[in-house]
Amino acid sequence: MNRVQTELHRHLDVSLRLSTLLELAQARGLEPQSTSLEAFDKKVILRKPLSDLREVLSTFTLFQRVLDRPEVLERAGFEAVEDCWNEGTRKVELRFSPSFVSEFSKLSWEEVLAGFERGVKRAQAKYPEIQVGLLCIASRDYGPEFAEKTVDFFLKHQSRFVGLDLAGNEENFPCRIFEPAFKKAVKAGARITIHAGEATGPENMWEAIELLGARRIGHGIAAVRDPKLMEYLAKNRICLEMCPTSNWLTRAVPSFESHPLPQVLRAGVPVCINTDDPGVFAVGMADEARICREKMGMTEAEIELCHRHATELSFI
Ligand SMILES: [Zn+2]
Repeated sequence: MNRVQTELHRHLDVSLRLSTLLELAQARGLEPQSTSLEAFDKKVILRKPLSDLREVLSTFTLFQRVLDRPEVLERAGFEAVEDCWNEGTRKVELRFSPSFVSEFSKLSWEEVLAGFERGVKRAQAKYPEIQVGLLCIASRDYGPEFAEKTVDFFLKHQSRFVGLDLAGNEENFPCRIFEPAFKKAVKAGARITIHAGEATGPENMWEAIELLGARRIGHGIAAVRDPKLMEYLAKNRICLEMCPTSNWLTRAVPSFESHPLPQVLRAGVPVCINTDDPGVFAVGMADEARICREKMGMTEAEIELCHRHATELSFI
């Protein structure tokens, strides 16, 4: 295989190795010392489609509670890059939400960024051939004013990030309400990717592109429902960062077989393959590739094309 494997959509703040998560949880008294890795896996890893979002919330909270000091963030950054390297990835964008990490820890956003950054740099010193970029996530769920605060933080440290993202509850917080914050970022030359069309329809994807300046879309499952949008994405080389396992587990698609990735790809839209939340779904790039081949009927050449899209449209 002579392709460069690139991943653009991987959340650093929910990427801890299961063994690390267990070790940290036990050290903090959040998990009994007697818990085995197998039992812990059953408890925190999502392996069947969700019937209710509350099922994963406790896992997300556990991540927030163990990412409580700079050394832990450094370790998380280091191990995430090392995992990517071991998966064969040579270019990766890792994203995190400073507010998600600081909610329990009360670390400053600066400390969060510096901690992750130290870990990433240490890993790059060990694996100099891997390219890594950080994306800053503004959370939808606290409303437009809070998102603007995150955009200001991003702009203050713009040289340390490769881009900006918006994530969270799409249904109650549509893209358009974040327009003022993102206009500011676009004006400052920020590269933008937006989680859209995962839980809502194509209109939220249009808003992400036209109002928020998105050059890439996280998920974008809804694109197939709008032929004009498909044409626009293909013509303007707007990349869809699709995450098959995540989309299946969160019920964004009813089955792997009905995942729109192959259809979108064959229509000429630049799409790429991603793991999203490896610490919650226990997936790596090889698992995603296998699903694309075995369940979604994609050829090796098509998977390779996805990696070429990711490499070409990376913000690094
Ligand atoms: Zn995501």
